[in-house]
Amino acid sequence: MNAFEYFAPTTLKEAIDILNEKGEEASILNGGTDLIVRMRDGISDPKYVVDIKKIKGMDDIRIENGRVFIGASALLNDLGNNQDIQKRYPFLSKAALSIGSKQVRNRATCIGNICNASPLAGMATPLLALNATVHVFGNYGEKDILLKDFFVFVRKTLLKHGEIVTGISFEEQACLGVFTKISRRRKVDLSTVCSTVVKKYDEYRISFGAVAPTPVRLNKTEAFLKGKMLSKDIIEKACELAMSEVSPISDIRASESYRRELVQVMLRNSLSQWY
Ligand SMILES: Cc1cc2nc3c(=O)[nH]c(=O)nc-3n(C[C@H](O)[C@H](O)[C@H](O)COP(=O)(O)OP(=O)(O)OC[C@H]3O[C@@H](n4cnc5c(N)ncnc54)[C@H](O)[C@@H]3O)c2cc1C
Repeated sequence: MNAFEYFAPTTLKEAIDILNEKGEEASILNGGTDLIVRMRDGISDPKYVVDIKKIKGMDDIRIENGRVFIGASALLNDLGNNQDIQKRYPFLSKAALSIGSKQVRNRATCIGNICNASPLAGMATPLLALNATVHVFGNYGEKDILLKDFFVFVRKTLLKHGEIVTGISFEEQACLGVFTKISRRRKVDLSTVCSTVVKKYDEYRISFGAVAPTPVRLNKTEAFLKGKMLSKDIIEKACELAMSEVSPISDIRASESYRRELVQVMLRNSLSQWY
């Protein structure tokens, strides 16, 4: 790993000023479980590293004014083990605790996972299915971006240089959900395919990871299911539609056709819980 200059600002304003002053050669460091690995492998080579973990008030997880808020530096273990989250959104908790190992999750953050924008990001599918909003801070102040618009391509988001994500939130909602992760090993392995299916009354929200350049919602399948009573026939039609909506690739983890097959198996198993 090449040498870099390390900064540990204690306020957002200070962090933004450093990012703007150092320009494109500065990277934001959160838990570092993606960034440091990329630096060690020579894929990223920032000259300046701006650690945001010392900024106060960024590590909280709270339910306030009808919204659930996850701060930028909240750890995956804290999110996964949060009792309110476990009780109300067990599928979100399951997703958080499915990432890496206990040691990794004691450093890794939910927001780092989202900002890293891997197609298989473990936190993306539950948060997409919860219609989450990303909160961003820049030298202009604050702005919000819907998570469904945030991912642009493999490891590319709408974030511009000099912007920091301060957290992610979603509206409190009575819903049921199923998170599924298929990987080659049971533990400490990246997803071959992951998914979340949320049921809110007669509406279904379906998101998949590792079947397209970004984590995706399956809008056509959702529209087909809306208002319908689930039956074996309806579920099969939904599974066929879902397979036509994804565009997986073949890589070291799985072939394109295996991933497409997994989409229907995972969706069928998820929907069958409510049939
Ligand atoms: C052994 C191991 C196992 C893993 N298993 C999994 C797995 O099963 N599933 C999975 O999805 N991932 C996995 N990962 C990847 C990684 O742990 C997660 O993606 C993690 O959530 C990243 O969070 P972080 O805080 O460490 O991010 P960092 O590495 O600090 O940052 C990741 C990227 O996001 C940017 N960033 C971080 N925070 C912000 C912010 N607030 N605003 C703007 N940009 C920001 C950084 O600049 C960097 O580009 C694994 C990693 C390891 C080492």
